[in-house]
Amino acid sequence: MSVLTKISEHVYWMPPGPPDRPSVGAVVGDRRALMLDAGSSKAHTREFLDALWVEIAVRPSAVVYTHSHWDHVFGGAELGGHVIAHASTAEWLIELAGTDWSDDGLELRVAAGIVSPQHAAHVKQELPSPRRVEVAPADIVFQQGLDLELGGVTVRVQHVGGDHSADSSVMFVEPDRVLFLGDCLSDSPEGTLTAELAFPLHEAILGFDAELYIEGHHESVSSRAEIESLIEKMRFAENAVRKGSEITERDEDTDDFVQAFRAGRTMAS
Ligand SMILES: [Zn+2]
Repeated sequence: MSVLTKISEHVYWMPPGPPDRPSVGAVVGDRRALMLDAGSSKAHTREFLDALWVEIAVRPSAVVYTHSHWDHVFGGAELGGHVIAHASTAEWLIELAGTDWSDDGLELRVAAGIVSPQHAAHVKQELPSPRRVEVAPADIVFQQGLDLELGGVTVRVQHVGGDHSADSSVMFVEPDRVLFLGDCLSDSPEGTLTAELAFPLHEAILGFDAELYIEGHHESVSSRAEIESLIEKMRFAENAVRKGSEITERDEDTDDFVQAFRAGRTMAS
């Protein structure tokens, strides 16, 4: 069972957990509370809302999404509040609502190579069969971004894109200086990274004056130094792949990035 942690004056965070549950957050202002990503299922969302209620007797009136992947949005219907999403995330929500999520539907998509066996296994584990998935559509849709004033705290939502998902947005919480990243720094579902999409994303991320960073599937909150070092490793890996040079200082992250940038170049050529 995941625990809720208060990481700054206004921000609460529940870390990721199995099978593929991502970070879920809440920003609590004097007037309103906002949920950051909804979690993978109604059960996951309920766990978060119950924990927040026990902690401070607050229930968020809206949720904003980092991107449209199922594990971040399937819990949205449980909140029963406004759903705020980027225009293309909103389109994907409609698509997800019309998708067959039964075991048969999942198996067909695995067989057709549309999704990975791991994806199907995660959905099955999070939502036991017979499965009825209710996907809440977006109520408020933005293009580049929007600011949400919660009373003494502002959430600046900005679309950033990237290899993981073109619809990725991040949320910057002021004055707390917390940046909620979702999965935007990760590789694509096919395992690729490209300089074309990753470099502008890095600039956008480092452009926020943040001190705490929450990643979708990372078990701890990262410092600015940790995010800078991660981005540095990505740049280093990309450079080595582009020049075909040997990497002497290797670690697990760098090896993964090398593999992803290589796959990105193969895909493009
Ligand atoms: Zn994702």
